Amino acid sequence: MTPIFPESLQQWQSVASSLKFDGRPAIGGQRNEPHSTRTFDLVNPADGQVLAQVPRCGTVEVGAAIAAARAAADHGVWSEQPAVLRAEVLRKLATSIEVHGAELALLDSLQMGMPVSLAVDDIGLAARKLREAAAGAERLQGASLPSAPSSLALNLRVPQGVVAAITPWNFPLFVALSKIGPALATGNSVVLKPSELAPLACLRLADLAAEAGLPPGVLNVVPGLGSEAGQALALSRQVDMVSFTGSTATGRLLMRAAADSNLKSLQLELGGKSPQVVLDDCGDLEALAQALADGLMFNSGQVCVAGSRLVIARSLAPSLVPLVAEKLASWRFGHPMDPVTTLGPLASRHHLAHVQRFIDHAHAQGLAAWPSPMGGGPGLPTPIVFSDVPADAEIAQEEVFGPVAAASSFDTDDEAAAYANNSRYGLVATVWCSDAARGLALARRIRSGAVTVNTRTRHTPARVSGASLEPVRESGFGAEGGLAGLLAYTRARHLLLNLPA
Ligand code: NDP
Repeated sequence: MTPIFPESLQQWQSVASSLKFDGRPAIGGQRNEPHSTRTFDLVNPADGQVLAQVPRCGTVEVGAAIAAARAAADHGVWSEQPAVLRAEVLRKLATSIEVHGAELALLDSLQMGMPVSLAVDDIGLAARKLREAAAGAERLQGASLPSAPSSLALNLRVPQGVVAAITPWNFPLFVALSKIGPALATGNSVVLKPSELAPLACLRLADLAAEAGLPPGVLNVVPGLGSEAGQALALSRQVDMVSFTGSTATGRLLMRAAADSNLKSLQLELGGKSPQVVLDDCGDLEALAQALADGLMFNSGQVCVAGSRLVIARSLAPSLVPLVAEKLASWRFGHPMDPVTTLGPLASRHHLAHVQRFIDHAHAQGLAAWPSPMGGGPGLPTPIVFSDVPADAEIAQEEVFGPVAAASSFDTDDEAAAYANNSRYGLVATVWCSDAARGLALARRIRSGAVTVNTRTRHTPARVSGASLEPVRESGFGAEGGLAGLLAYTRARHLLLNLPA
């Protein structure tokens, strides 16, 4: 069935008015009344209105979710299904996600402010990634090893067991599915703790998964706070792996929790401060400025791979930086449900204040500033590029997670490589050039999870089937995507069978 999406603000508002906000935890294949009577508010950042009150799950609910996942894993209700049958269920779920695309996109948009047109795109991408994980897991192979004729020696890939997925608010359903997909496809059971800012689409996902035929207990979703529900998962001895996307600070806490409990496996996708390096042979500066602006403005800059460090050849910087600032204004701020809106408010007032502090510090340091001529809007600071930024300035080093870029200049390709690598983060990088051989040579010197030449990272690895990204430095570790991303949710196991003579 081809999903049908509303085409106007009024149509989206009409769908939104019929939405039900069910925040109850999904445990053991169904929604449950929480043990705790405590709740937290979900606030729509576009108008400051409280959308819903959601149960604040604590150790009791998290314990029940872990127990359900553990029982499913230990009884093999999912892990011992043939991969082809698991893939069938996951393909059914992918189709159901597409069919419910308008509802899921609206939930994400209402909770964290992203334009609904972007959320629609995201949900479609999430469904495709789920199919990709299912297909990849069908083809996973172990190996048979040389051994004596009286024995059979095998290397197997087995599921980790119980995977806790802890996810952020910037692409709520997409990031959750980028973990749940490979985890389920390889036979694990999952407990998901979505961001406290945006849990509703993830909870709906659990309903859809049960309808698609996922056995009870294989996917559980517990809304709650990181310091409570998240920590309970991180410290549990019944959880075999934590897969996390979020801040480097929380990544450190998760490593400590793993060390203090059962040394569970970790996959950490943390912050980024991605360089966009522009070589002096670049031609069409108008198109380039637009691409640089797009790499920053997508999702209002709240993207771990946002290209927020502009590393520009000195000869181009004086003309390129003002042009980039001009192109920032091509992004259209407006009502998130209006299909023409491309730029929404930041996800929360708290985050707005966090971003504004970075902007204020940079102004206080006297850095030259190029604000967007269009200004910002309610909940969104004026998008801005700071130029001639020293390499060690806060704005060049810290992840702002908003529409703010730091531009610096270089004279030689050696300097460009050194500048690009001068960061505690290493998630993605982009090189813009005319001479592809020169661009490739530079790309190879940049130490980062992914490097793209003459294209932006939103299109890869997310849109390239099979692409794997493994962060470096304080951006984390453990691959996401592709074969390496599937294997991360498995363990190697050796099986030796001695045959009677
Ligand atoms: P966090 O790292 O705090 O949150 C990410 C997830 O971790 C949320 O589900 C959160 O729960 C949970 N969490 C928080 N504390 C703990 C804990 N002690 N134990 C277990 N789980 C925990 O990121 P924020 O949302 O606060 O964003 C802060 C900054 O992090 C951003 O400004 C940005 O720089 C970076 N970030 C990077 C992202 C990326 O894609 N790499 C995504 C999001 C943020 P809760 O929602 O309750 O806080």
